Amino acid sequence: MNDIFNIEVNLKNYNKFSHNSIISTNIPSNINLCLWYLNTECNYKCPFCGCSNQIKNEIIRTPHEIENAFNKHGKQWIIFLTSLGEPFLYPKFLEIIKILTKNNYITINSNLSHPNVYSLPSYANLDKLIAVHAAYHVIEIEKNDPEQIKKNDFIKKINFLQNNGINTVVSYVAYPPLLKRIENDFNLLRSKGIKNIMAKPFRGMYQNKNYPKSYSKKEWALLIEISNSINEVDFLDLADNYKNYLCDAGYRSFFLDQKGDLFRCRSDSQKIGNFFSDEILFSNKTCICGMDKQNCLFACVLSSMHANEGIANNLSLWRKIFKNY
Ligand code: SF4
Ligand code: SF4
Repeated sequence: MNDIFNIEVNLKNYNKFSHNSIISTNIPSNINLCLWYLNTECNYKCPFCGCSNQIKNEIIRTPHEIENAFNKHGKQWIIFLTSLGEPFLYPKFLEIIKILTKNNYITINSNLSHPNVYSLPSYANLDKLIAVHAAYHVIEIEKNDPEQIKKNDFIKKINFLQNNGINTVVSYVAYPPLLKRIENDFNLLRSKGIKNIMAKPFRGMYQNKNYPKSYSKKEWALLIEISNSINEVDFLDLADNYKNYLCDAGYRSFFLDQKGDLFRCRSDSQKIGNFFSDEILFSNKTCICGMDKQNCLFACVLSSMHANEGIANNLSLWRKIFKNY
């Protein structure tokens, strides 16, 4: 897989004096980015998740409708199928992956609980499957299906994906009650052959404390030390503000919700159209960010011109903390 799609490599190579976004410097101009909440249903109820997991999808799109919607703009897309539910539960999910990876690149976020994970390599065009981000929700697995733990179901699926040459990254949300066991859990996963594992900072309130701000220096160092695959975005402080800086969101990158409504980014509630209709107000240039609050740092990191300077500074800060600890 070409390194242009690897955010870690992009961040490391980023020149903070270039005053361009990662998208405009690293992604060819015929490719747009789309963060897509395909599915709102989930079979888990993780205590740290804001998803509405019991809500049925309002609209189900067919693979054919989805193919048309992504093909009609004359662009290729990098599609981040991300979490507001478990994507493998979506009707005809494997067929959707098959048609999307004919022409577009995708990453999939999943809890890997569904048996169809084993069919993924026979449906996806593996050259266009950038990565599977597999969330190891150990509390939910232990609660719902202790047999799964004994059978190492999650671990077997990761090994299966790795053995099929799929770039697989296991993420583990560092929810405060899990901090005492996280290292042991990581050691277990590694001892079973799992290669890329990263801790994801918990964002939210726990026992009246605001996270990730409330992690101690020692806890931060642990999260960085045990992660051999770090998505640096997850280690940044959301307090950074990108308002009034130029951004490629709405021009090269977008947020698509479950109903098909398209937005400049997840922080902007003003709809620019419906992706499954013909009336979409794409911007033809980078525009100023007017958001007081950014609630999806991932889009800012990739699209904003200011965010990258913030990242470069934050990266050296985190490396310093890690080194000096
Ligand atoms: S598996 Fe993912 S989407 Fe489902 S409840 Fe847990 S964090 Fe939320
Ligand atoms: S919130 Fe982030 S992604 Fe959205 S316009 Fe502002 S900088 Fe860009």
